[in-house]
Amino acid sequence: MIATYRSTRGGEPVTFGEAVRAGLAPDGGLYWPTAIVPLPAGWRAAPTPAALAGAVLAPYMGEATASAVATGLDFPWPVTALGDDVFLLELFHGPTAAFKDVGARSLARAVQASAAASGRRVTVLVATSGDTGSAVADAFAGLGAVRVAVLYPAGGVSRVQEDQLTADRPGVRAFAVAGTFDDCQRLVKAAFSDPALAEQGLSSANSINVGRLLPQALYYLWAAARTAELSGQGGPPHFVVPSGNLGNLTAGLLAAEAGMTAGGFIAAHNRNDYFPRFLAGEVGAYEFSSSVATPSNAMDVGAPSNFERLHAWLGDDLRSRVAGVRVSDEETLEAMHRTFVTSGRQVCPHTAVGLEAVRRLRQADPQAARPAVVLATAHPAKFPDAVLEATGVPVEVPPSLEKFAAAPKRVERLEADPAALRQALLGWDD
Ligand SMILES: *Cc1c(COP(=O)(O)O)cnc(C)c1O
Repeated sequence: MIATYRSTRGGEPVTFGEAVRAGLAPDGGLYWPTAIVPLPAGWRAAPTPAALAGAVLAPYMGEATASAVATGLDFPWPVTALGDDVFLLELFHGPTAAFKDVGARSLARAVQASAAASGRRVTVLVATSGDTGSAVADAFAGLGAVRVAVLYPAGGVSRVQEDQLTADRPGVRAFAVAGTFDDCQRLVKAAFSDPALAEQGLSSANSINVGRLLPQALYYLWAAARTAELSGQGGPPHFVVPSGNLGNLTAGLLAAEAGMTAGGFIAAHNRNDYFPRFLAGEVGAYEFSSSVATPSNAMDVGAPSNFERLHAWLGDDLRSRVAGVRVSDEETLEAMHRTFVTSGRQVCPHTAVGLEAVRRLRQADPQAARPAVVLATAHPAKFPDAVLEATGVPVEVPPSLEKFAAAPKRVERLEADPAALRQALLGWDD
């Protein structure tokens, strides 16, 4: 039996291929499995991420697609100790140096499999606050039947991120939008409900796409299988998730629901703190605010798109399953500084938000969050200015990132207006 998927807003179940190709459900909702499939016996013994993917994902997407997805997971997920029962789950060893490579490379293979089966052309739209766009562009580039339009906030991404986003790739167009990330998300959503674009075979590569989200559950399992042996205490790990759109957190909760034991989940947010405020009961469901710019820019999300998925799935239970923490810009840079001084490690600002969340929880209760696995979501070299400011030492740039600076660039300016995006997509004829 292969899982089926239903919109958060109801309706009939669809297949995995249909859910992936559509991205967003026609009613504006997000797809989610109609039932969570328990983990297969022996998942802890999987020797590689690819082997884990094949075993865990097959009941969710079928054996052939799961095998295709597994081929994209060809980089390591090391779990390294920082001391004091804190571990980093390093998710930045893929081609664009952020955890987004996991979902993007998986999704590219799933969409390709589905487009090939249906014989239809697919145009993938992706709104990015920095890391998703480059991971998606890199993962999809040159996949014949699939082309990609990337929308990012002009001036809202780091130089290294922009180099990656605008690298000229076959079948990929980059748009610098005069607006915020939330504007970019709004444009993408408007395009989906635009009848003039119905023939374009639009699909979404944001974490609203369930095909990107499911494979992200794998690295939680990978870390859970390794933390016991690494940790002095050996208890089940507390996962600390630097969060923005809440896709990563949703994937972790899915892993737990499927049978992974976790000590708990901590959603670590920057000043864009809608979710911690919701968990604390300070604001109601969907009472979002606008986004503000912080050093952890990939988490600058005012209206997290996966909130609908979490809320439709778990409702008020969310408050008992997840602890929320809000971290200021100063605390973020201090955490980067402190981590460098105490462990010699330079971390990216997003990872630092997670580390600061652990420190905060243990300040209140020294036994809290032990052991803690902090998801290290990006390589520090993607944020060279912040790392230099916080640690006083320039970050070493790995060759895989350096190559983007020298690559030929192609980018177009776009007004934050659905009509402008419509025109660009209708005129796309290569
Ligand atoms: C996207 C991103 C996040 C936030 O992940 P969500 O799934 O959107 O919550 C955190 N850190 C980095 C580096 C990212 O690129």
